[in-house]
Amino acid sequence: MDIHQRSMLIDAHCDTLIKLLAEDRMLGQPSLTGHIDLVKLNAGGVNVQFFAVFIHPDYGEDSGIARAMELINVFYQQCQKYSSQLALATCQDDLIRIVQSGKIAAILAIEGGEALGGQLYMLPIYYLLGVRCITLTWNGRNSIADGVGVKSAAGLTSFGLKVIREMNNLGMLIDVSHLAEIGFWEVLAVSNQPVLATHSNCAALCDHPRNLNDRQIIALAKAGGVIGLTLVPEFISEYQPSLDKYLDHFDHIVDLVGPEHIGIGTDFDGIDETILEVSDCAMLPQITAGLIKRGYDEDTIAKILGGNLMSLLGKVIG
Ligand SMILES: [Zn+2]
Repeated sequence: MDIHQRSMLIDAHCDTLIKLLAEDRMLGQPSLTGHIDLVKLNAGGVNVQFFAVFIHPDYGEDSGIARAMELINVFYQQCQKYSSQLALATCQDDLIRIVQSGKIAAILAIEGGEALGGQLYMLPIYYLLGVRCITLTWNGRNSIADGVGVKSAAGLTSFGLKVIREMNNLGMLIDVSHLAEIGFWEVLAVSNQPVLATHSNCAALCDHPRNLNDRQIIALAKAGGVIGLTLVPEFISEYQPSLDKYLDHFDHIVDLVGPEHIGIGTDFDGIDETILEVSDCAMLPQITAGLIKRGYDEDTIAKILGGNLMSLLGKVIG
């Protein structure tokens, strides 16, 4: 499909690094069970892939740094082994150069502030290692803030406040997916840069705590942010999630704030179930086909697939 191939496609979230480590697999080996490998990325027309260094809460703040190093090592092993197909991007110039050379640009991200081990000095160290995006929390509580799974959740801690300021200073994207709503509002109030929700959908269509309500979507958009609409079936619909119901989330955000604040954040390799029509990253052109069917024009589709995220990356990471 021409429109899909011509557009820059950015996936703002996947958990492939933990899968590679757990299965002792490399990105160049086509996987029968995995959602992402180099063959599938190319088949799906993916130009930029965020790779999350996910710190499962079991590791806690004590082992968070060690776990992050283990996964960052896996990331660099892939970049080294497949350097003709994949390269780390740390700024917009990198992204453009890498994609133009026909390679996949990789953005290194961290999911779970436990990776800081409660130490602010870890932020510039991660920055030096190439990390450009941090999901502040997972579903539980950490030293930065509370996630969506915490009952009567609190917002940012004083350490969390410092983390936001330092991420702003360094030029790192703040990811508010997984963050409890109270913390979401505090981040928007404090951050002097637009923020990203790497993998969340609309609560108005699917009332799940991981989704954003309309007030959140409007505020995030007003601040210049982007929402990576995600393929997690439970966040698409409680009843028979499908591509059609996934596309309803696009329509809903367009109605609310226009198409400039939508991106894609699959959560591939972080989910056990997928919707039938988009069961791995090779099937991503199905999203474009669905948008065309709904009457979206090429310009709008290009913004949704990657243009909006590209602008946000340029603004925040430089
Ligand atoms: Zn997640």
